[in-house]
Amino acid sequence: MPTSSISELKARLAALQEEWREVNDQLERETGLPSDHGGLEASRLEAAPEVRILDNAADGIFTLDGEGCLRYINLAGLRMLASKGEDLIGTQLMKMLAPRANRRLIAEVGQWLKEPLESKTFLMVDMPVMNRFGEKRWLSLHLQRESDAEGNITEIQGIARDITEQQRLQLALRRSEEHYRGIIENMELGILEVDNEERIIRAFPKFCAIVGYSEEELLGRKASEVFMRAEDALKMDARTADRNAGESGLYECVVRKKNGEDVWLLISGIPIRDEHGEVVGSMGIHYDISARKKDEQELESALRDVEAARRSERVFLAKMSHEIRTPMNAIIGMSHLLEATHLNEEQQAFVGAISKGGELLKGLLDDILDLARLEDGQLSLNPRTTYVKPLFEGVVKVYGMMMAEKGVDLTLSWDGTLDVPIGVDRSALSQVLLNLVGNAAKFTEKGRVVIRPTLRLGQDSDVMEVAVEDTGIGIPAHAIDRIFDRFQQSDQPKSGGGGGSGLGLSIVRELCTLHGGRVFVESEVGTGSVFTFSFVVDVVQGQHIENKGLDVAALKGRKVLIAEDNAVNALYLCKLLSRWEMEYTAVEDGEKAVEAWKKGSYDLILMDIQMPMCDGMEATRIIRSAESTVHSRTPIIGLSAFAFHEDVVDGLASGMDGYLKKPYSPDELAGAINAWL
Ligand code: ADP
Repeated sequence: MPTSSISELKARLAALQEEWREVNDQLERETGLPSDHGGLEASRLEAAPEVRILDNAADGIFTLDGEGCLRYINLAGLRMLASKGEDLIGTQLMKMLAPRANRRLIAEVGQWLKEPLESKTFLMVDMPVMNRFGEKRWLSLHLQRESDAEGNITEIQGIARDITEQQRLQLALRRSEEHYRGIIENMELGILEVDNEERIIRAFPKFCAIVGYSEEELLGRKASEVFMRAEDALKMDARTADRNAGESGLYECVVRKKNGEDVWLLISGIPIRDEHGEVVGSMGIHYDISARKKDEQELESALRDVEAARRSERVFLAKMSHEIRTPMNAIIGMSHLLEATHLNEEQQAFVGAISKGGELLKGLLDDILDLARLEDGQLSLNPRTTYVKPLFEGVVKVYGMMMAEKGVDLTLSWDGTLDVPIGVDRSALSQVLLNLVGNAAKFTEKGRVVIRPTLRLGQDSDVMEVAVEDTGIGIPAHAIDRIFDRFQQSDQPKSGGGGGSGLGLSIVRELCTLHGGRVFVESEVGTGSVFTFSFVVDVVQGQHIENKGLDVAALKGRKVLIAEDNAVNALYLCKLLSRWEMEYTAVEDGEKAVEAWKKGSYDLILMDIQMPMCDGMEATRIIRSAESTVHSRTPIIGLSAFAFHEDVVDGLASGMDGYLKKPYSPDELAGAINAWL
């Protein structure tokens, strides 16, 4: 055989041996046992019985000589070190320590191995050692020394338990604790732990930073006594009871800091349980919400201010409306009376304009109240079946004369489609119309203004659409969107019409929306504008509407008691009642009204609300309480310039049957009287 092939075979053999050794090592590593362990155990079977007993023990058992070198080790010990034994016997215990073992540990064990007899004969220590494969294993060792008469160590016996897995878990646990401690300490949350008596057992740094105490100052103290005022501490007791019952909770409370300042905290309280599930205390997670509380308090106070401002606005509106309504009743009343006297044609036209103007002003007054109600979200529509043409004609009459003076022509282009009764809120319609025609009049200096109403019948709904066209100054494109917002005006120079509040179009838009419609404008600066609005309306088919005044014949001969302190308004009432051939007695205060009622017998009382001595509501209450003994029930209609909904409710609550707002027209009065007779 050539030498080369022999050397090749040798090399292969060596490689195979190497491979076999690697497989063997791998096997031993995986099982933790020497690969010829069976052989080892078999050889040990031949040993003395006490050795066999020791080999059967689950713990590692070993002895060291006086120098600390291994003399004997049982099978379990060998398994822990993945060793066959021969390589270990004679090795110094300290040499088995894993590299980089803790120095304090090395010193402690080294010292104990050398110490004189009198000191402690036992040592319990957890030691990291290297097994045969260079892997670190943790052994928990229990060592005991024996000495001779001179005190020299003769033998050391040891028991070893492999705690590598335990150590690994502990290390993982420690790492995880460190991890969460890092998170907790960096969070904006202060953590406090207390026992079931609320005594502080742990205060985390962030909590200490919030309250300004150190943990030492807090430990063992009752949390509520340190942080709470007496009244809050009581509430805290209830929460502690919840925690002790195992319930979590989230609440806000004020906590007193060490420097006496208050801090608002949001607290999440969680019960802490021991390993048996018993509640042993609670953990509070605290978040400083002082800044948020401050914002909240400022917001609340701002809301209170707004509410107060709204209230005073309503009081102001009520007062203004009352102040204007009383004289307006006189204007409307007198012009109605004047209309019924002998006047020439020109005078008739003038009085007619005064009367219509009064009506429109009355409408505007109602609009001011509507604005207040729109803002409160209280305004609702009151649709009635009506012909709308007279309403359009009224508007033309009012603005026509005014515009004619400027040389602007105001016309109504009537296509006839609206010659049917429709269900519409008259007040909303006149308000929208007055605003749009009023604006057209204000912003048009020459040319014409045309009102074009029309009715479009649809499948789902019928829509009244009205265009108001003018040849005025127009509105620049950039301003078109905002003129419908409150207090907004275009930046066009004002024409002769003068100022304005910028409220009109916003009311128009809201009223149109309320009526299911909309409003929009097309305009060109210098050419003019067309405002178009729509209302969804009910077209009443085949219904005959009484478009004349009320039939007042039924009123003839009935007896009415009038209580009204305003002389002009009283005159208005007296004249109307005489016109309808009614009988009446007029007095000027509540007391006299009660007196007159006692003496006479009336079909109805017209009672002003605000009167000297005894007001209308008081007089009504007196009459109602005396009624069964004096007379049978007499209907009472309140007359008042107080026009808010609450005023009507108050009036009815005092015992009135109806309520008529000033200013009222003859028809409205006749209607109210008719209803109660
Ligand atoms: P006011 O007329 O009281 O200022 P409005 O809300 O009724 O308030 O109108 C807002 C603005 O819209 C007006 O100030 C005006 O600039 C513009 N405007 C309204 N109608 C017209 C119009 N017909 N022609 C030109 N500008 C108009």
